Amino acid sequence: MLMIEDLQVKIGDREILRHIDLEIKQGETHILFGPNGSGKTTLLMTIMGYPQYTVTAGKISFKGEDITYMPINDRAKLGIGMSYQRPPTIHGLKTRQMIEICGRGKADPETLAAGVNFTDFLDRDINAGFSGGEIKRSELLQLMAQDPDLLLFDEPESGVDLENISLIGNSISTLLQREFKDDAGKSHKEQRAERTKMGLIITHTGFILDYVTADKGQMLYDGYLSCKSNPLEIFRCIKEAGYGECLRCTT
Ligand code: ADP
Ligand code: MG
Repeated sequence: MLMIEDLQVKIGDREILRHIDLEIKQGETHILFGPNGSGKTTLLMTIMGYPQYTVTAGKISFKGEDITYMPINDRAKLGIGMSYQRPPTIHGLKTRQMIEICGRGKADPETLAAGVNFTDFLDRDINAGFSGGEIKRSELLQLMAQDPDLLLFDEPESGVDLENISLIGNSISTLLQREFKDDAGKSHKEQRAERTKMGLIITHTGFILDYVTADKGQMLYDGYLSCKSNPLEIFRCIKEAGYGECLRCTT
């Protein structure tokens, strides 16, 4: 459903991504690992369609359509949504209004906010003075309202306090129609064949792996993708041997 073939991306005249091949099938969730500056955010922003990320070669298709040069708003309409690592502050726009816009009038901000402890923030300007973890919860709410088919998460757990991490983790798992635990600790599971959503999650801390089961993991190192493997296995290797070990595979 998402197919990326031999993608190369520049910011200005600097090449950031090289020969990226990635396929995410319907119902699949992938985890993307990689050290700072390796190009993870660039990959997600390019899939979403930000114009400052210039595609110099290769192709991105989604739901059978070539979206390589499609404007960002058309990609959103086609069903791509993203939770940003560093979204901007917008003075004069309330979080509540943003959630309504994302939900095209169909989402109820109060109900959604109650699910991630965010009711008190609905009438504040979006991201104005929010802490890192509060920004992540606000981003998640917008994505819940939009309910896209392909969900891109850029470090959704970074800065989130321990009290809210399970809320975030379980909400992401629910959005991706995967197994999750409810407030009483009871486990719910969607069958593989029933899943329609696709996910691509960047994680730095690996916390998210405690809550979201994923089908595949990959490492992005210096603009190259490698180590297609079980995400828990990749995470274990990073913890034990560090990212430096990845050079063995990428060079
Ligand atoms: P990651 O998310 O893996 O930490 P990024 O995709 O944010 O990495 O960045 C990849 C590289 O691109 C970094 O070296 C970063 O400094 C560079 N970069 C990102 N944005 C810009 C920009 N607007 N102008 C110039 N270089 C940039
Ligand atoms: Mg990043």
